[in-house]
Amino acid sequence: MLHNKQTKSNAGVFTSPESQHELEKNSLPDGCHSSQVVHQLIKDELMLDGNSRQNLATFCQTWFEPEVIDLMSIAIDKNMVDRDEYPQTAEIEKRCVSILSDLWNVDDSKDAVGTSTTGSSEAAMLGGLSLLRKWQAQRKQLGLPFYKPNIVTGPVQVCWHKFARYWDVELREVPMEHEQYLLTPESAVVHCDENTIAVVATLGVTFTGQYDPVAEIAHALDDYQDETGIDIPMHIDAASGGFVAPFLQPELEWDFRLDRVRSINASGHKFGLTPLGVGWIIWHEASDLPEELIFHVNYLGGNMPDLALNFSRPSGQIISQYYNFLHLGREGYTSIHQCCRNIAVYLAEEINKLGYFDIIYNGEGGIPALSWKLKPNTDEFTLYDLADRLKNKGWLVPAYALPVNQQQTVVQRILVKRGFSFDLASLLIEDYKLAIEHLLLHPTSVALNEKEAGSFRH
Ligand SMILES: *Cc1c(COP(=O)(O)O)cnc(C)c1O
Repeated sequence: MLHNKQTKSNAGVFTSPESQHELEKNSLPDGCHSSQVVHQLIKDELMLDGNSRQNLATFCQTWFEPEVIDLMSIAIDKNMVDRDEYPQTAEIEKRCVSILSDLWNVDDSKDAVGTSTTGSSEAAMLGGLSLLRKWQAQRKQLGLPFYKPNIVTGPVQVCWHKFARYWDVELREVPMEHEQYLLTPESAVVHCDENTIAVVATLGVTFTGQYDPVAEIAHALDDYQDETGIDIPMHIDAASGGFVAPFLQPELEWDFRLDRVRSINASGHKFGLTPLGVGWIIWHEASDLPEELIFHVNYLGGNMPDLALNFSRPSGQIISQYYNFLHLGREGYTSIHQCCRNIAVYLAEEINKLGYFDIIYNGEGGIPALSWKLKPNTDEFTLYDLADRLKNKGWLVPAYALPVNQQQTVVQRILVKRGFSFDLASLLIEDYKLAIEHLLLHPTSVALNEKEAGSFRH
């Protein structure tokens, strides 16, 4: 006769003893539990996260080729920091730096340097720190005070707020003007002075998807230098645009073709098409990277300085980046991003047709994305209500208020990434229409209150 407990276990995961009660979650269990059962139960809990492919809010990739998944798994045990133990992985990182220098148009006469990072945030910290140290050194040399550095930016991603706070630099985030959601050359220059360590322009502004006018800002800074003698370098936060502009807008001068651009960062895990966990920074010339930030380790190759905020980190993302470069080439990246852009343009047209929205960015001229706001005086629903309704179908299309000076403007935004097909886009539009219909029939208390109060969020 079979033991009762054994009968249960043999009937599968969901009759196992572990499945018969809530798991101990916040303290370490005393005993061990079946790997098969725990694996299943954790997978089940993760199901509640929803479906990342429907996350249209994120800039990060959510679809990967099986080859990438294989390379990630091969690399699971390789620490990127052990460049002497894994020389070939280090070599691959070096090649990626060369490829990016080339992609961002470093002139052959320049000795560009660069490194991988965990993402654009770490890359931005390293870029900002280089600019800070260079500015301090120059001021010291001239016998001038070097205690009040500032950095001038447009509407930036939170990493620049972090940089400013962590390293005691005054952040001069130029306020958005009415209907103007970018850094303009005039407004950038107005905020500059002798204590400005750099102007940061963004390629793929977080809030809308547009590009700051990099070349125009650079030229305005040329004029500023002619007038004042103050030479202010630029750093480009190309977290998303760095992997888009070279393919979709190759003629756009935003990169090292401009001498004033001294460093650029980008996220491999965004439009670089790699799994989460890799960013890049390239400095125009070796002299843009202060020596004191580099930790020389004798096993490093010539153009691979060891500098990072982290120490141990995974290497699979870097290997996947290299795979993407070799496999896709210019042609592949161009066609993938072009398809995404076409879908963004299609979505913008469809959303415009609905009659309730003003399109802010329609996918052309920047990254494959779109953003829109409610037409003034729309009081039947808010964008927050719409975002909430769409969640019922699993779609994440965030609604949020714009930053400094435009907080009263609420927008919605979609990032179109590899794996989001025309077919899915058309299904999303159907769900968007259904959401509006529902809200017209069942206005939310928020919309009703606002209607009564006469203050409309749009
Ligand atoms: C995503 C993003 C960042 C941060 O990049 P991570 O790779 O997530 O660290 C910084 N700046 C911009 C413009 C971004 O879009």
